[in-house]
Amino acid sequence: MKDAIVLYPAPGIGHLVSMVELGKLILSRYDCEFSIIVLLTTGPFDSPATTSYIDRISQTTSSISFHRFPYLPFTASPTLSRLANMFEFLSLNDYNVPQSLQQLSEASSIRAVILDSFCTSAFPLARGLGIPTYFFTAFSAAALAAILYLPTIHKQTTKSFKDLPTTVFHIPGLPPLLATHMIEPLLDREDRSYHQSLQFSLDLRKCDGVLTNTFDGLEPVALMAITNGECVTDGPSPSVYCIGPLIADAGEDAPTHKHDCLSWLDQQPSRSVVFLCFGSRGSFSREQVKEIANGLERSGERFLWAVKSPPADEKRKEIRDEIVVWDDFDLDDIMPEGFLDRTKDRGMVVKSWVPQVAVLRHQSVGGFVTHCGWNSVLEAVSAGVPMVAWPLHAEQHLNKAVLVENMKMAIGVEQRDGDRFVSGAELERRLKGLMDSEEGRDLRERINKTREMAVEAWREEGSSTTALAKLADIWKHDQGCKLAD
Ligand code: UDP
Repeated sequence: MKDAIVLYPAPGIGHLVSMVELGKLILSRYDCEFSIIVLLTTGPFDSPATTSYIDRISQTTSSISFHRFPYLPFTASPTLSRLANMFEFLSLNDYNVPQSLQQLSEASSIRAVILDSFCTSAFPLARGLGIPTYFFTAFSAAALAAILYLPTIHKQTTKSFKDLPTTVFHIPGLPPLLATHMIEPLLDREDRSYHQSLQFSLDLRKCDGVLTNTFDGLEPVALMAITNGECVTDGPSPSVYCIGPLIADAGEDAPTHKHDCLSWLDQQPSRSVVFLCFGSRGSFSREQVKEIANGLERSGERFLWAVKSPPADEKRKEIRDEIVVWDDFDLDDIMPEGFLDRTKDRGMVVKSWVPQVAVLRHQSVGGFVTHCGWNSVLEAVSAGVPMVAWPLHAEQHLNKAVLVENMKMAIGVEQRDGDRFVSGAELERRLKGLMDSEEGRDLRERINKTREMAVEAWREEGSSTTALAKLADIWKHDQGCKLAD
């Protein structure tokens, strides 16, 4: 019987891709020892991209197989947050977890189950079967420190963090953080995701280990705080395995023809272009889009800007539905009049999607305006591109604080109180700071040193290689589970 590692991602293509990358990483070093089985929910969170991605991985990577749960009809409640709905959907799928693990163990010896950080409700179920159970966190060690510290803060206040506009949290390993800049699902104490996160924090202490997509050289302060036990004040801290940077293969998703923006970058001078992209879901109101355009025009910098369609609800700054036609809008309609024409010699605006990893690695790109999503941060660090930090959602405000204050690899934009609007003048100032100042050169130098550390982490004796080897050793030699007996 072959040893297997079972991965369980939360629904949605982003979670699936991160988990599959983790599987591929394990196989890249331990292909002969383990096979990878991915458990998958089936329901309304799926998009057509999910099916084609699964097909492609099944065809190209035979050691990864997918075990799909039966389709579960689910109607999202309009009164709950997107995340709370996802938690609800996952807990409805809980009965599938032990059933599937039992079934899989007839053909494989399951050495470990690795859960997405959203799949907390499956934790007691996998653990209950005696299987070593780990979490994989696709966010920063700083965010992990904040989650581990959550039960301590929970006892200090009875209010929702969103209602504490002047309160500053002092979380071990992080710079002082406004309560309103905490990870988004934690802001509302009344929301199910707050309590789920609290439970996640408690489960993290009990799990067999946390695999996290970072590396020792990137976040030494947060990692030290976790391993020293400063984040868990009343119990043991989990073992943390830093196995990053884990970056989706740039070539894999590239279309067969070269993207126009890469051909355009080929024509630009070295390190001269500032790239603006706000993740897979970040989109702005029409007013904010116009202001970004004004800032770009006033700055005189060369730019490549990926623009998503403005959200239906202009206040949300996010495309809510994953199955959305991103390029079904007219650029001329949302840009200031004449902007595209006036900047055509030094700027390119792309509707919807650009191959970000390839763009960041292009030698013409000298700066990155980012929403501080953790994948984007790791991709910028690995390409040695300094950043302007413009956080929107999730744990991005926390990431910004760490990037600007601890790591000193980004300049932050100032956002208006309340609606977090950024003026064109502010963007212009930050772009010039990034591209044409001593401060920008310092950031570049620092990020280049960190980029070397990222490469170092995966060398033979590197920290991430060692962490993964330690895990593989545990999985190979520990008792494992005896489900099939
Ligand atoms: N991405 C991309 N092109 C785009 C927008 C996003 O390739 O136009 C990729 C980006 O390289 C990253 C991921 O989508 O790997 C976004 O992940 P991140 O954690 O930065 O942000 P999220 O989308 O989760 O907010």
